[in-house]
Amino acid sequence: MNTQATLGTALVTGASTGIGATYADRLARRGYDLLLVARDAGRLEALAERLGAEHGIQVEVLPADLISKADVLKVEQRLRDDSTITLLVNNAGVAMNGPLVSADLDQAEAMIQLNVVTLTRLAAAAAANFSAAGRGSIINLGSVVALAPEMFNAVYSATKAYVLSLTQTLAGELRETGVQLQAVLPGVTRTEIWQRSGADASALPPSMIMEVGEMVDAALAGFDQKELVTIPSLPDAADWDAFVKARAALGPNLSRNQAAARYK
Ligand code: NAP
Repeated sequence: MNTQATLGTALVTGASTGIGATYADRLARRGYDLLLVARDAGRLEALAERLGAEHGIQVEVLPADLISKADVLKVEQRLRDDSTITLLVNNAGVAMNGPLVSADLDQAEAMIQLNVVTLTRLAAAAAANFSAAGRGSIINLGSVVALAPEMFNAVYSATKAYVLSLTQTLAGELRETGVQLQAVLPGVTRTEIWQRSGADASALPPSMIMEVGEMVDAALAGFDQKELVTIPSLPDAADWDAFVKARAALGPNLSRNQAAARYK
């Protein structure tokens, strides 16, 4: 049996550029076959041609606008029905800039649609397929702003907090099924997302900006270590463990039959 047959196919959303295109490259190197999804068919086809030739893998492009319900259903159906798919990289996402009071709410709604609604539908379809097969993995792209919402746009940060929450709960639901979950929480990563959202990454200190290859390699190292949550830039994993422990300590007191004494 060759490596490809063992690894199966990775479906990567937002694969035309940036983090998604880099996942496609790294997964191709590992021997995955690829199913690449984004709107820009030309870019997807160019990437597919290169990766197929360089790594001898099968690469299919599936152009889709993941804000359009009809297109989402097409990708969702493929995720439900295709038994060769073993990995979903739920990466397609957009950002926006500026305060909520002056925001373009149609733009905010489209962002919620892509970052939250589509990501949820695709994760659910993959979870159904993979859990029935007793194997498979789902990688959801969150962001560190899930933990530091004051750093950036309100709605974007909230969509990324959703991604973290969804991944944590889904991991519990799928615990006994053999399906692996990972939320990746990148900090600022050099991609087109900054220009696309109208934010100026060049105003940030260079020490805050990671190159996309380094980010994805670190995220995949966390995946190999079976981490549920990976923060590529966090130097000391004990800081995250302490955060998880502090949250767990709140647990027994978050729902009780009496209000706290300070509120009486
Ligand atoms: P990017 O360079 O702007 O790439 C975004 C990808 O999503 C592109 O392939 C784009 O392809 C696709 N996409 C956008 N709208 C789409 C739509 N309606 N339907 C289908 N595909 C769509 O962004 P990135 O930095 O790689 O971001 C990838 C993920 O990482 C996002 O979820 C983002 O929130 C997250 N993230 C990024 C950073 C960062 O600093 N870069 C930090 C934390 C988290 P088409 O335009 O061809 O459709």
